[in-house]
Amino acid sequence: MQKKKGPSRFETVALHGGYDVEQKTMSTAVPLYRTTSYNFRSSQHAQDLFALKEGGFIYTRLGSPTQQVLEERMSLLEGGAAALALASGTNAIFYTIINICSHGDEIASSVNLYGGTYSMFSDIIKQFDINVNFFNPAEPGSLERALSPRTRLVYAETIGNPTLDFADLEALASTARAHGLPFVVDSTFTPPCLLRPIGHGADIVIHSLTKWIGGHGTAIGGIVIDAGTFDWKDPKFSLYNDPDTGYHGLRFARDLGEFNRIAFIMRMRLVPLRNLGGCISPDNSWIFLQGIETLSLRMERHCSNALAVARYLKDHPKVSWVRYPGLAGDPGHDVAARYLKNGFGGMVVFGVRGGADEGKRFIEGLDLFSHLANVGDAKSLAIHPASTTHSQLSPDEQSRAGLAPDLVRLSIGIEHIDDIIADIDQSLRGI
Ligand SMILES: *Cc1c(COP(=O)(O)O)cnc(C)c1O
Repeated sequence: MQKKKGPSRFETVALHGGYDVEQKTMSTAVPLYRTTSYNFRSSQHAQDLFALKEGGFIYTRLGSPTQQVLEERMSLLEGGAAALALASGTNAIFYTIINICSHGDEIASSVNLYGGTYSMFSDIIKQFDINVNFFNPAEPGSLERALSPRTRLVYAETIGNPTLDFADLEALASTARAHGLPFVVDSTFTPPCLLRPIGHGADIVIHSLTKWIGGHGTAIGGIVIDAGTFDWKDPKFSLYNDPDTGYHGLRFARDLGEFNRIAFIMRMRLVPLRNLGGCISPDNSWIFLQGIETLSLRMERHCSNALAVARYLKDHPKVSWVRYPGLAGDPGHDVAARYLKNGFGGMVVFGVRGGADEGKRFIEGLDLFSHLANVGDAKSLAIHPASTTHSQLSPDEQSRAGLAPDLVRLSIGIEHIDDIIADIDQSLRGI
Protein backbone atom coordinates (compact mmCIF):
# COMPACT_ATOMS: atom_id res chain seq x y z
CA MET A 1 0.00 0.00 0.00
CA GLN A 2 1.52 3.28 -1.04
CA LYS A 3 0.81 6.80 0.04
CA LYS A 4 -2.21 8.34 -1.67
CA LYS A 5 -1.35 11.51 -3.53
CA GLY A 6 -3.89 14.19 -4.38
CA PRO A 7 -6.18 16.31 -2.24
CA SER A 8 -4.55 17.84 0.78
CA ARG A 9 -7.44 19.36 2.74
CA PHE A 10 -7.72 18.02 6.26
CA GLU A 11 -11.17 16.40 5.98
CA THR A 12 -10.17 14.60 2.78
CA VAL A 13 -6.79 13.37 4.00
CA ALA A 14 -8.52 12.10 7.15
CA LEU A 15 -10.53 9.71 4.96
CA HIS A 16 -8.03 8.78 2.25
CA GLY A 17 -4.47 9.68 3.31
CA GLY A 18 -1.90 6.90 3.34
CA TYR A 19 -4.13 4.28 1.67
CA ASP A 20 -4.41 3.25 -1.95
CA VAL A 21 -7.06 0.60 -2.46
CA GLU A 22 -5.36 -2.74 -1.89
CA GLN A 23 -5.23 -4.37 -5.32
CA LYS A 24 -5.71 -8.04 -4.46
CA THR A 25 -9.11 -7.67 -2.79
CA MET A 26 -10.03 -4.05 -3.67
CA SER A 27 -11.08 -3.52 -0.05
CA THR A 28 -12.36 0.01 0.41
CA ALA A 29 -11.72 0.00 4.17
CA VAL A 30 -8.09 -0.19 5.28
CA PRO A 31 -7.47 -3.94 5.75
CA LEU A 32 -6.71 -5.24 9.22
CA TYR A 33 -3.72 -7.62 9.11
CA ARG A 34 -4.02 -9.86 12.16
CA THR A 35 -0.74 -11.67 11.86
CA THR A 36 2.47 -11.71 13.84
CA SER A 37 4.83 -12.31 10.91
CA TYR A 38 5.33 -12.00 7.17
CA ASN A 39 6.81 -14.72 4.95
CA PHE A 40 10.15 -14.07 3.28
CA ARG A 41 10.31 -14.68 -0.46
CA SER A 42 13.88 -16.05 -0.16
CA SER A 43 16.91 -16.05 2.13
CA GLN A 44 18.20 -13.04 0.25
CA HIS A 45 14.90 -11.21 0.83
CA ALA A 46 15.11 -12.03 4.57
CA GLN A 47 18.71 -10.82 4.76
CA ASP A 48 17.93 -7.58 2.89
CA LEU A 49 14.98 -6.78 5.13
CA PHE A 50 17.08 -7.23 8.27
CA ALA A 51 19.96 -5.22 6.80
CA LEU A 52 17.52 -2.35 6.00
CA LYS A 53 18.47 -2.67 2.32
CA GLU A 54 14.81 -3.19 1.46
CA GLY A 55 11.61 -1.92 3.09
CA GLY A 56 8.89 -4.39 4.08
CA PHE A 57 7.24 -6.20 6.95
CA ILE A 58 8.97 -8.77 9.13
CA TYR A 59 7.23 -9.05 12.48
CA THR A 60 4.31 -7.04 13.87
CA ARG A 61 6.33 -5.72 16.83
CA LEU A 62 8.22 -3.62 14.25
CA GLY A 63 5.20 -2.53 12.23
CA SER A 64 2.21 -3.74 10.23
CA PRO A 65 0.46 -2.56 7.05
CA THR A 66 -2.57 -1.33 9.05
CA GLN A 67 -0.25 0.58 11.38
CA GLN A 68 1.62 2.00 8.39
CA VAL A 69 -1.54 3.61 7.02
CA LEU A 70 -2.24 5.10 10.47
CA GLU A 71 1.31 6.48 10.62
CA GLU A 72 1.21 7.95 7.12
CA ARG A 73 -2.23 9.46 7.64
CA MET A 74 -1.29 11.07 10.96
CA SER A 75 1.98 12.32 9.49
CA LEU A 76 0.09 13.93 6.58
CA LEU A 77 -2.49 15.48 8.92
CA GLU A 78 0.23 16.97 11.14
CA GLY A 79 2.42 18.13 8.27
CA GLY A 80 5.23 15.82 9.40
CA ALA A 81 7.79 13.70 7.56
CA ALA A 82 7.22 10.33 9.27
CA ALA A 83 5.49 8.82 12.29
CA LEU A 84 5.61 5.83 14.60
CA ALA A 85 2.52 4.49 16.38
CA LEU A 86 3.02 2.84 19.78
CA ALA A 87 1.14 0.99 22.51
CA SER A 88 0.07 4.13 24.40
CA GLY A 89 0.62 7.86 24.66
CA THR A 90 2.74 7.18 27.74
CA ASN A 91 4.90 4.80 25.75
CA ALA A 92 5.25 7.43 23.00
CA ILE A 93 6.51 9.97 25.54
CA PHE A 94 8.97 7.56 27.20
CA TYR A 95 10.44 6.38 23.90
CA THR A 96 10.83 10.01 22.81
CA ILE A 97 12.86 10.79 25.92
CA ILE A 98 15.10 7.73 25.70
CA ASN A 99 15.49 8.15 21.94
CA ILE A 100 17.26 11.47 22.63
CA CYS A 101 18.75 11.31 26.13
CA SER A 102 21.15 9.00 27.87
CA HIS A 103 22.56 8.99 31.41
CA GLY A 104 23.75 12.39 32.58
CA ASP A 105 21.47 14.27 30.17
CA GLU A 106 18.67 16.63 31.17
CA ILE A 107 15.33 17.69 29.78
CA ALA A 108 13.54 21.03 30.23
CA SER A 109 9.80 20.52 30.61
CA SER A 110 6.78 22.70 31.16
CA VAL A 111 5.36 22.10 34.63
CA ASN A 112 1.77 21.92 33.29
CA LEU A 113 1.67 18.24 32.49
CA TYR A 114 -0.55 15.21 32.30
CA GLY A 115 -0.20 13.49 35.73
CA GLY A 116 1.45 10.35 34.36
CA THR A 117 3.97 12.40 32.38
CA TYR A 118 4.81 14.43 35.48
CA SER A 119 5.60 11.23 37.40
CA MET A 120 7.61 9.81 34.49
CA PHE A 121 9.73 12.96 34.34
CA SER A 122 10.13 13.60 38.06
CA ASP A 123 10.56 9.97 39.23
CA ILE A 124 11.11 7.34 36.57
CA ILE A 125 13.62 8.77 34.12
CA LYS A 126 15.78 9.63 37.15
CA GLN A 127 16.49 5.90 37.43
CA PHE A 128 18.39 6.29 34.15
CA ASP A 129 20.14 9.42 35.45
CA ILE A 130 18.13 11.62 33.09
CA ASN A 131 17.01 14.66 35.06
CA VAL A 132 14.22 17.17 34.52
CA ASN A 133 14.19 20.93 35.08
CA PHE A 134 10.64 22.25 35.08
CA PHE A 135 9.70 25.67 33.71
CA ASN A 136 6.47 27.64 33.77
CA PRO A 137 5.52 28.56 30.20
CA ALA A 138 3.51 31.55 31.48
CA GLU A 139 6.65 33.16 33.02
CA PRO A 140 9.00 34.87 30.57
CA GLY A 141 12.59 33.70 31.04
CA SER A 142 11.51 30.58 32.92
CA LEU A 143 12.59 28.22 30.10
CA GLU A 144 16.06 29.85 29.81
CA ARG A 145 16.60 29.28 33.53
CA ALA A 146 15.73 25.59 33.10
CA LEU A 147 18.44 25.04 30.46
CA SER A 148 21.97 23.79 31.08
CA PRO A 149 24.78 22.48 28.86
CA ARG A 150 23.36 18.98 29.55
CA THR A 151 19.83 19.81 28.27
CA ARG A 152 18.86 17.69 25.27
CA LEU A 153 15.22 18.65 24.61
CA VAL A 154 12.43 21.11 25.46
CA TYR A 155 9.01 19.60 26.25
CA ALA A 156 5.53 21.15 26.54
CA GLU A 157 1.83 20.34 26.19
CA THR A 158 -0.29 22.66 23.98
CA ILE A 159 -3.31 23.08 26.24
CA GLY A 160 -1.61 22.11 29.49
CA ASN A 161 -3.05 19.65 31.97
CA PRO A 162 -4.73 20.45 34.33
CA THR A 163 -5.10 24.27 34.20
CA LEU A 164 -5.76 24.44 30.44
CA ASP A 165 -3.21 27.25 30.06
CA PHE A 166 -2.02 27.45 26.47
CA ALA A 167 1.76 27.36 25.91
CA ASP A 168 3.17 30.06 23.60
CA LEU A 169 4.66 27.47 21.24
CA GLU A 170 6.53 29.89 18.98
CA ALA A 171 8.31 31.57 21.90
CA LEU A 172 9.35 28.17 23.33
CA ALA A 173 10.39 26.91 19.88
CA SER A 174 12.60 29.92 19.25
CA THR A 175 14.39 29.49 22.60
CA ALA A 176 14.85 25.79 21.89
CA ARG A 177 16.21 26.55 18.42
CA ALA A 178 18.61 29.20 19.75
CA HIS A 179 20.11 26.50 22.02
CA GLY A 180 20.22 23.81 19.33
CA LEU A 181 17.55 21.70 21.05
CA PRO A 182 14.59 19.81 19.60
CA PHE A 183 11.16 21.08 20.69
CA VAL A 184 8.80 18.24 21.65
CA VAL A 185 5.07 18.98 21.92
CA ASP A 186 2.36 16.76 23.40
CA SER A 187 -0.63 17.90 21.31
CA THR A 188 -3.17 15.41 22.68
CA PHE A 189 -5.61 18.16 23.75
CA THR A 190 -5.39 19.79 20.30
CA PRO A 191 -5.87 17.19 17.53
CA PRO A 192 -4.51 18.32 14.14
CA CYS A 193 -7.84 19.78 12.94
CA LEU A 194 -7.42 22.35 15.76
CA LEU A 195 -3.65 22.87 15.69
CA ARG A 196 -0.58 21.68 13.76
CA PRO A 197 2.36 22.39 16.10
CA ILE A 198 4.97 21.72 13.40
CA GLY A 199 3.87 24.95 11.69
CA HIS A 200 4.71 26.74 14.96
CA GLY A 201 8.21 25.32 15.39
CA ALA A 202 7.70 21.86 16.93
CA ASP A 203 10.24 19.25 15.80
CA ILE A 204 8.42 16.29 17.33
CA VAL A 205 4.67 15.98 18.00
CA ILE A 206 3.16 13.36 20.33
CA HIS A 207 -0.46 12.27 20.68
CA SER A 208 -2.23 9.94 22.99
CA LEU A 209 -4.46 8.39 20.30
CA THR A 210 -6.60 7.11 23.18
CA LYS A 211 -8.31 10.48 23.49
CA TRP A 212 -10.07 12.54 20.76
CA ILE A 213 -8.35 10.82 17.82
CA GLY A 214 -9.77 7.40 18.77
CA GLY A 215 -12.66 9.39 20.11
CA HIS A 216 -14.93 6.67 21.48
CA GLY A 217 -13.12 5.43 24.57
CA THR A 218 -12.38 2.02 23.04
CA ALA A 219 -8.60 1.67 22.56
CA ILE A 220 -5.25 2.77 24.03
CA GLY A 221 -2.49 3.96 21.71
CA GLY A 222 0.04 6.70 21.05
CA ILE A 223 1.94 8.19 18.14
CA VAL A 224 5.10 10.22 17.59
CA ILE A 225 5.38 12.44 14.50
CA ASP A 226 8.80 13.56 13.29
CA ALA A 227 8.70 16.92 11.49
CA GLY A 228 11.95 16.00 9.73
CA THR A 229 13.26 19.47 10.66
CA PHE A 230 15.83 18.73 13.32
CA ASP A 231 19.47 18.12 12.44
CA TRP A 232 20.94 15.59 14.88
CA LYS A 233 24.56 16.00 13.77
CA ASP A 234 25.63 17.97 16.86
CA PRO A 235 27.91 15.50 18.72
CA LYS A 236 26.08 16.27 21.99
CA PHE A 237 23.36 13.92 20.63
CA SER A 238 25.54 10.89 21.23
CA LEU A 239 22.80 8.38 20.30
CA TYR A 240 22.85 9.81 16.77
CA ASN A 241 26.57 10.33 16.30
CA ASP A 242 28.29 7.48 18.13
CA PRO A 243 28.43 4.23 16.13
CA ASP A 244 25.50 1.95 17.11
CA THR A 245 26.81 -1.47 18.10
CA GLY A 246 23.42 -3.10 17.39
CA TYR A 247 23.65 -2.01 13.73
CA HIS A 248 27.34 -2.63 12.92
CA GLY A 249 28.50 0.88 13.74
CA LEU A 250 25.68 2.79 12.03
CA ARG A 251 25.57 6.50 12.97
CA PHE A 252 21.91 7.51 12.77
CA ALA A 253 22.51 11.23 12.07
CA ARG A 254 24.97 10.51 9.25
CA ASP A 255 24.66 7.12 7.60
CA LEU A 256 20.98 6.86 6.63
CA GLY A 257 21.29 8.61 3.26
CA GLU A 258 17.90 9.95 2.17
CA PHE A 259 16.51 8.96 5.58
CA ASN A 260 18.89 11.16 7.62
CA ARG A 261 16.06 13.71 7.73
CA ILE A 262 13.89 11.27 9.69
CA ALA A 263 16.76 9.83 11.75
CA PHE A 264 14.71 10.35 14.92
CA ILE A 265 11.74 8.21 13.93
CA MET A 266 13.97 5.64 12.17
CA ARG A 267 15.98 5.19 15.35
CA MET A 268 12.85 4.95 17.48
CA ARG A 269 11.56 2.06 15.38
CA LEU A 270 14.93 0.33 15.08
CA VAL A 271 16.10 0.67 18.68
CA PRO A 272 13.51 1.33 21.43
CA LEU A 273 10.57 -0.25 19.60
CA ARG A 274 12.48 -3.21 18.23
CA ASN A 275 14.16 -4.13 21.49
CA LEU A 276 11.85 -2.80 24.20
CA GLY A 277 8.70 -3.80 22.37
CA GLY A 278 5.94 -1.25 23.13
CA CYS A 279 4.12 -1.90 19.85
CA ILE A 280 0.55 -1.01 18.92
CA SER A 281 -1.72 -3.92 17.93
CA PRO A 282 -3.10 -4.07 14.37
CA ASP A 283 -6.63 -4.00 15.84
CA ASN A 284 -5.99 -0.75 17.69
CA SER A 285 -4.35 0.80 14.61
CA TRP A 286 -7.54 -0.02 12.74
CA ILE A 287 -9.74 1.48 15.47
CA PHE A 288 -7.75 4.74 15.38
CA LEU A 289 -8.13 4.93 11.59
CA GLN A 290 -11.89 4.74 12.12
CA GLY A 291 -11.67 7.58 14.63
CA ILE A 292 -9.63 9.81 12.32
CA GLU A 293 -12.32 9.60 9.62
CA THR A 294 -14.77 11.64 11.74
CA LEU A 295 -12.26 13.58 13.83
CA SER A 296 -12.93 17.06 12.46
CA LEU A 297 -16.72 16.65 12.69
CA ARG A 298 -16.53 15.46 16.27
CA MET A 299 -14.11 18.22 17.27
CA GLU A 300 -16.53 20.89 16.02
CA ARG A 301 -19.16 19.53 18.40
CA HIS A 302 -16.72 18.98 21.30
CA CYS A 303 -15.56 22.60 20.99
CA SER A 304 -18.98 24.22 20.65
CA ASN A 305 -20.38 22.15 23.54
CA ALA A 306 -17.38 22.94 25.77
CA LEU A 307 -17.69 26.67 25.08
CA ALA A 308 -21.40 26.57 25.95
CA VAL A 309 -20.66 24.71 29.20
CA ALA A 310 -17.90 27.19 30.13
CA ARG A 311 -20.25 30.13 29.54
CA TYR A 312 -22.98 28.47 31.59
CA LEU A 313 -20.62 27.76 34.52
CA LYS A 314 -19.16 31.26 34.47
CA ASP A 315 -22.47 32.80 35.50
CA HIS A 316 -23.50 30.10 37.97
CA PRO A 317 -23.77 31.22 41.62
CA LYS A 318 -22.43 27.90 42.95
CA VAL A 319 -19.26 28.07 40.81
CA SER A 320 -16.26 29.96 42.21
CA TRP A 321 -14.12 29.96 39.06
CA VAL A 322 -13.98 28.41 35.59
CA ARG A 323 -11.15 27.99 33.07
CA TYR A 324 -11.64 27.39 29.35
CA PRO A 325 -9.18 28.78 26.81
CA GLY A 326 -12.06 29.81 24.53
CA LEU A 327 -13.72 32.00 27.17
CA ALA A 328 -13.14 35.72 26.56
CA GLY A 329 -11.39 37.02 29.67
CA ASP A 330 -9.78 33.65 30.51
CA PRO A 331 -6.11 34.24 31.49
CA GLY A 332 -5.05 31.88 28.68
CA HIS A 333 -7.43 33.21 26.05
CA ASP A 334 -5.18 35.71 24.28
CA VAL A 335 -2.36 33.24 23.66
CA ALA A 336 -4.78 30.43 22.76
CA ALA A 337 -6.66 32.65 20.29
CA ARG A 338 -3.40 33.30 18.41
CA TYR A 339 -2.99 29.58 17.74
CA LEU A 340 -6.47 28.01 17.75
CA LYS A 341 -8.62 29.07 14.80
CA ASN A 342 -11.10 26.16 14.75
CA GLY A 343 -12.13 25.91 18.40
CA PHE A 344 -10.55 25.61 21.81
CA GLY A 345 -10.90 21.92 22.59
CA GLY A 346 -13.23 19.82 24.68
CA MET A 347 -11.91 20.35 28.22
CA VAL A 348 -13.39 22.64 30.89
CA VAL A 349 -12.16 22.92 34.49
CA PHE A 350 -13.84 24.74 37.36
CA GLY A 351 -14.17 25.04 41.12
CA VAL A 352 -17.39 24.50 43.05
CA ARG A 353 -18.04 27.01 45.83
CA GLY A 354 -17.21 25.31 49.12
CA GLY A 355 -14.08 23.52 47.88
CA ALA A 356 -12.89 20.00 47.16
CA ASP A 357 -15.61 18.15 49.11
CA GLU A 358 -18.38 20.04 47.34
CA GLY A 359 -16.62 19.32 44.05
CA LYS A 360 -16.58 15.58 44.76
CA ARG A 361 -20.28 15.76 45.69
CA PHE A 362 -20.97 17.51 42.39
CA ILE A 363 -19.28 14.66 40.48
CA GLU A 364 -21.26 12.05 42.40
CA GLY A 365 -24.51 13.88 41.57
CA LEU A 366 -23.97 13.69 37.82
CA ASP A 367 -26.13 11.21 35.86
CA LEU A 368 -25.25 11.66 32.20
CA PHE A 369 -21.53 12.28 32.75
CA SER A 370 -19.38 9.21 33.37
CA HIS A 371 -17.10 9.46 36.41
CA LEU A 372 -13.81 8.03 35.14
CA ALA A 373 -10.14 8.68 34.35
CA ASN A 374 -10.15 9.48 30.66
CA VAL A 375 -10.67 12.44 28.35
CA GLY A 376 -11.67 12.81 24.72
CA ASP A 377 -14.47 10.23 24.63
CA ALA A 378 -17.56 11.06 22.55
CA LYS A 379 -19.37 10.77 25.90
CA SER A 380 -19.08 13.47 28.59
CA LEU A 381 -16.72 12.62 31.46
CA ALA A 382 -15.91 14.11 34.88
CA ILE A 383 -13.18 13.61 37.49
CA HIS A 384 -11.52 15.25 40.52
CA PRO A 385 -7.81 15.25 39.49
CA ALA A 386 -6.22 16.14 42.87
CA SER A 387 -7.46 12.87 44.42
CA THR A 388 -7.03 10.70 41.29
CA THR A 389 -5.02 11.41 38.10
CA HIS A 390 -2.62 13.81 39.84
CA SER A 391 -2.63 12.11 43.28
CA GLN A 392 1.00 10.96 42.79
CA LEU A 393 2.02 14.63 43.10
CA SER A 394 2.60 16.05 46.60
CA PRO A 395 0.34 18.99 47.63
CA ASP A 396 3.31 21.27 46.95
CA GLU A 397 3.89 19.81 43.48
CA GLN A 398 0.15 20.08 42.78
CA SER A 399 0.17 23.76 43.61
CA ARG A 400 3.28 24.41 41.47
CA ALA A 401 1.56 22.65 38.57
CA GLY A 402 -1.44 24.95 39.09
CA LEU A 403 -3.74 22.19 40.28
CA ALA A 404 -6.20 23.66 42.78
CA PRO A 405 -7.58 21.19 45.37
CA ASP A 406 -11.15 22.07 44.34
CA LEU A 407 -10.58 21.66 40.57
CA VAL A 408 -13.22 19.58 38.78
CA ARG A 409 -12.26 18.43 35.29
CA LEU A 410 -14.90 17.97 32.61
CA SER A 411 -14.29 16.38 29.21
CA ILE A 412 -17.29 17.57 27.24
CA GLY A 413 -18.76 15.01 24.84
CA ILE A 414 -20.85 15.31 21.72
CA GLU A 415 -24.28 14.68 23.29
CA HIS A 416 -26.96 17.33 22.79
CA ILE A 417 -25.86 20.45 24.63
CA ASP A 418 -29.23 20.84 26.40
CA ASP A 419 -28.83 17.41 28.02
CA ILE A 420 -25.23 18.17 29.07
CA ILE A 421 -26.20 21.46 30.71
CA ALA A 422 -29.31 19.97 32.31
CA ASP A 423 -27.14 17.31 34.00
CA ILE A 424 -24.63 19.87 35.31
CA ASP A 425 -27.51 22.05 36.46
CA GLN A 426 -29.30 19.32 38.41
CA SER A 427 -26.07 18.24 40.13
CA LEU A 428 -25.11 21.79 41.09
CA ARG A 429 -28.62 22.33 42.47
CA GLY A 430 -28.25 19.23 44.61
CA ILE A 431 -25.22 20.47 46.57
C1 LIG B 1 -3.81 10.53 28.19
C2 LIG B 1 -2.67 11.43 27.98
C3 LIG B 1 -1.37 10.91 27.90
C4 LIG B 1 -1.07 9.44 28.08
O1 LIG B 1 -1.64 8.68 27.06
P1 LIG B 1 -2.09 7.13 27.26
O2 LIG B 1 -2.58 6.76 25.91
O3 LIG B 1 -3.15 7.13 28.31
O4 LIG B 1 -0.89 6.40 27.70
C5 LIG B 1 -0.34 11.79 27.69
N1 LIG B 1 -0.55 13.12 27.56
C6 LIG B 1 -1.79 13.65 27.61
C7 LIG B 1 -1.97 15.12 27.46
C8 LIG B 1 -2.89 12.83 27.84
O5 LIG B 1 -4.11 13.35 27.91
